[in-house]
Order: sequence, then C-alpha cells, then structure tokens
Amino acid sequence: ARRSADSAPPTPGALADGTPVALLANLGKPADAADAVVRGAEGVGLFRTEFLFLSSAQAPTIAQQRESYRELLAAFPGKKVVVRMLDAGADKPLAFLNDAHEENPALGLRGLRALRASEDILREQLTALAEADASTEADLWVMAPMVATVEETVYFTTLAREYGLKTAGVMVEIPASALLADRVLAHADFASIGTNDLTQYTMAADRMLGSVAGFQDPWHPAVLRLVREVGDAGARLGKPVGICGEAAADPLLAVVLVGLGATSLSMAPSALADVRHALSERTPSEARSLAAAALAADDASSARTAVAALAAELP
Ligand code: PEP
Ligand code: MG
Repeated sequence: ARRSADSAPPTPGALADGTPVALLANLGKPADAADAVVRGAEGVGLFRTEFLFLSSAQAPTIAQQRESYRELLAAFPGKKVVVRMLDAGADKPLAFLNDAHEENPALGLRGLRALRASEDILREQLTALAEADASTEADLWVMAPMVATVEETVYFTTLAREYGLKTAGVMVEIPASALLADRVLAHADFASIGTNDLTQYTMAADRMLGSVAGFQDPWHPAVLRLVREVGDAGARLGKPVGICGEAAADPLLAVVLVGLGATSLSMAPSALADVRHALSERTPSEARSLAAAALAADDASSARTAVAALAAELP
C-alpha cells in the first residue's frame, strides 16, 4: 500500500534507485524560510528578490537588501540558496525599474534587460549579496532572470564574479536561450528553467490574461522539448539544470522533468511532500519513458493523459 505523502518524512529527494534530485523551495521573503526547512527543503531554488520591493517607490539601499539576504542565507547553513536578481516588469513591475509605459511589457525592458539599463541597481544588489554571503554559511548561487542571449549570459556571469560571487547562472525562460542552451551553459555555472515564462513565450499567450489561460500549460510538448534541449546540454557539459517554475510542483510532471534531464526541482514548500513521494516511486529509466510519452503527444492534455496511462501500467 502506498504511504500517504503527508506522512512521508522529509528525506532528501531521490528516485527509486537512490539517484538524488534536490528538492528546493521557491521563496519570496526570508520569513518563509523556516516553514520550508520544516517541510524538508534542501535549500532554495528560487528566491524572488523583487517580491521584497514590489511596493517600494525607490530602489532599496544596500544595507536594507543585505539584511534581508543575510536573514535568508542564515536559515540554510551549508545549503544551496539560489537568489534571483530583481525580475522587474510585466507581472512584477517595480516603480524604480519600470517607469516607461510599454504596450507589451512581457516583451519589453524587463528582467536582466531592465537591470542593465539601470546597472547601478544591479551592482548594488550584487554588493548586498556579496556582503550577506561573507557573513553566513549558505552556498549562495546567483542568477539572472529573462536571459535571451549568450551575450547577456556572459555579461551577467562576468559581473557576478567581479563581486566574488562564485556560482553564477541564468534562468532559461525564453525559447531562444533554451534552443541555444549548449552555448548559454558554456558561460554559466548552471541553468534554472522558469516554466511559467517559458510556457508564456513558447505559446505566445500572456500569462496574466484569462482569455488565453488555456495555452498556459507546461505539459505542452513544445515546452517539454525545450526543457529537453536544456537537460541534454546540461548533461553534456556537466552543469546543473534546475526547474523553478510551477511545473515542478505537479508530481507527475516533476517525474517527466527529471526524465528530461532536470537535476533539481524548486517549488512552493507545500508541494514538496507530494513531489518527493512521486519521485521515490520511479527509476531513472521509468522517468525517461514517461518523458518520452509526453514528448510524443500532440498537445498538453494528451501528454498528461499519455503519461498518466503509462504511469498506471508501471509497477
Ligand atoms: C518562471 O517564469 O517560471 C519563474 C519561475 O519565474 P516567475 O514566475 O517569477 O516569473
Ligand atoms: Mg519568470
């Protein structure tokens, strides 16, 4: 009989044969770290720094930022904590980074593009992170949001290393960077796939717009084929590939994502137990078979149905 996911102890994430798949937390404020730890988060896969400043009219000071980052890092001694640089624009506007009106903000000056246009703010954030890192024991990784090109990857990782931040990577959430993942990963220490935006941009459907919400489904094989590109590139180059979009919180899809090459999964802490349980039931070769079934489907709903049917046949 299956043990209910709720009663599973928070052991590290692993497939049935023991292959580790780190299970990490998506967080928006340091105060949520304690709950993530209780739920067995092995670290943080996405700290959304912009959530700290959504209502700020002015850019935060270095000191203000340092305190927040220090509080976060202090909750994860010896653990990996991936901090994302301010991801401003579209669904997450910041008054001090997005002042111009844009007709299509999802396609505009957002994420790393906005930070480059206000490089002093990016440099201050890196300074605050380096200072927080120096006074805590966590393994700090930094990453840039909304990276579309190899040139942006080189720009960000070079800048981060200038501040002594040793592990610098990029979010892959634009199809261009997924398709060029081997070139992008040649210049980054890791990639983290944001399936929310990757789905939005692959399907050309605004994630904020209810009338096209049906397109915003990460089970779509077009999205999964892009995930496979990144997973394959990571495996070839020996670089970690995480998933930090909402897709990682769907237990069945989480297994598929691991089958496509994801080496860690980050999610809302409330989802950790069910995903941990789902992974523990599948071997690497089963995960790959489930992934193959999803990739062969015509659309999101048939991918989901095909994977569920195959999973029901497996032991
Ligand atoms: C994503 O796009 O999948 C992601 C994790 O970032 P956000 O949802 O904050 O845009
Ligand atoms: Mg995103």
